[in-house]
Amino acid sequence: MTKKFYQLNRLQRIAYLVKNKMLTLRDAAFFTNHTGLTQERAGQLVENQLTTFALPEGIARNVLVNGKLHQVPMATEEPSVIAAASNGARLAAFGGGFTVTQPQRLLIGQIVLTEVLDIAAITAQITDQEAQLLQVADQAHPSLKKRGGGARWLRVRQLSTQELSIDLAVDVQQAMGANMLNSMLEAVADCLQAKLALTPLMSILSNYIPESTVTATVAIPVAALATATISGATVAAKIVTASHIAQIDPYRAVTHNKGIMNGIDAVVLAFGNDFRAIEAGVHAYAARDGQYRGLSHWQVNGAELQGELTLPLPVGFVGGATKLLPAVLPNQRLAAVDSAEELMQVICALGLAQNLAALKALVTTGIQQGHMLLQAKSLAVTAGAQPNEVTAVVAALQQATTMDLATAKRLLAQLRQLQ
Ligand code: NDP
Repeated sequence: MTKKFYQLNRLQRIAYLVKNKMLTLRDAAFFTNHTGLTQERAGQLVENQLTTFALPEGIARNVLVNGKLHQVPMATEEPSVIAAASNGARLAAFGGGFTVTQPQRLLIGQIVLTEVLDIAAITAQITDQEAQLLQVADQAHPSLKKRGGGARWLRVRQLSTQELSIDLAVDVQQAMGANMLNSMLEAVADCLQAKLALTPLMSILSNYIPESTVTATVAIPVAALATATISGATVAAKIVTASHIAQIDPYRAVTHNKGIMNGIDAVVLAFGNDFRAIEAGVHAYAARDGQYRGLSHWQVNGAELQGELTLPLPVGFVGGATKLLPAVLPNQRLAAVDSAEELMQVICALGLAQNLAALKALVTTGIQQGHMLLQAKSLAVTAGAQPNEVTAVVAALQQATTMDLATAKRLLAQLRQLQ
C-alpha cells in the first residue's frame, strides 16, 4: 500500500514534491540541508543579537484556491495545526476548493494633530491642499510611483474637539509598505509644519485597514462531512451553530479566531512577514462593530455547508525581512505564489480551512483526540526519547490511560529497561 504524504519521512516528502513537480531540485537541496539563519545575518536583523531561534516548518497540502493548487509552507511550534489545515483543505476540495476575491491593497497611515483650535478651518485647509500633499508624499518615495503605486487619497478625521487624524492612503504595490509609508507620512508632516504652521504629534502607519480586505468562500457537500457515527447533515448543522456562538459570545469568539490565526500566523511567518501587524489588524477587525466576534460565518444552504471569511491582510511579497530570511524565497516558489495579492488569497483560504477543521473536530470527536495523538510525539521528545525511541513511546502513550509528561517519562524508562 502506498504511504500517505504524512507517513513519509522528511526526505521522502521532499522527494515526493520534486517527483510531482511541486519543488525544483535547487529548492529541494535547500530544504534538505537548510540549517537556518546564519549568525551574521541574524545580527543584521536585530539588536543585541546572541543566537538564532528555529521553528519547525511543514506544508498544508493541496489548498485549492480559485482553481489553483498550493502546497502552503507553515512555520509553527504547535502540533496538529498543519494536519488540521490539510484536513480542512481536503474537505474544501469536495466542493471545488476556495473561491477568493481580488484583494484590495491600500495601506493607511496617519498624521495626528492635537491642540487644534479651529478644527473646521484646518480641515478645509488640508482638504484644499490634498493634491499638493499627495505629491509631497510621492516625492518621499518616488520609486513607488514608478512601479504604478503611490499616494491615493487623504482624509481628515476628527478624533475630539481639538484632535485630528489626517489619514493618507497609499498603494504600496508588492511591499507590506510600513517603512515606505512612514517616510511618506513624515514628509507630509514636515510640509504641514512649513506651509500651515501645524505641529503634528506623530506620524505612523495604521495597522487597522478595514478598507483593504480579502474574502474567501467555500461550499462543501454536507455528505463529505460525515464521520463513522454522525451524518454529514448533523455535522454541518453543528458547525453552523458553533459559528453562531462565536458571533454572540466573545469568550468563544476569541478562541474561534485564535484557531483561524493558528494557520494564518504560521503562513505569515513562513513568508517572512510581520505577524504582529496581521494579528493586531485582524483582531481589531473582529471587533469593528463594537463587539468582538468570530471572523468566519458558516451556513447550510440546501445540501451544502457554506463558509466565508473576510480579513484585512496587508502582507508583503518583497521588502521587509523577505529577502533576509533564507527560507522565504524557496517557500514562495514551493507555494506557487507569485504576488502579494495571491499571498493574501492563499492565506485567507488557509484560515478558512483551519477554521473548518477545528469546528468539525470540536463538534464531533472533540479537539483533544486528534490533538493528543500529535501531542504524544512532543511528549515523547520532551521526555528525552531519542529519534529511534520516539515511535515506540508514542505508540505506548496512545495506549496509556493518561497522556502526560510523567507517563511519557515512565514509558521511556520501561522501554529502555527492555532493550
Ligand atoms: P521595506 O522598507 O523593505 O520597503 C520595501 C522595499 O521593497 C523597497 O526597498 C522597495 O524598493 C522594494 N521593492 C522591490 N520591488 C517592489 C515592488 N514591486 N513593490 C514595492 N516595493 C518593492 O519594507 P516595507 O516598507 O514593506 O516595510 C515592512 C517592514 O516594516 C516590516 O519588516 C515590518 O515589520 C516593519 N514595520 C512595521 C511597522 C508596523 O506594522 N506598525 C512599523 C514600522 C516598520 P524601492 O526602495 O526601490 O522602492
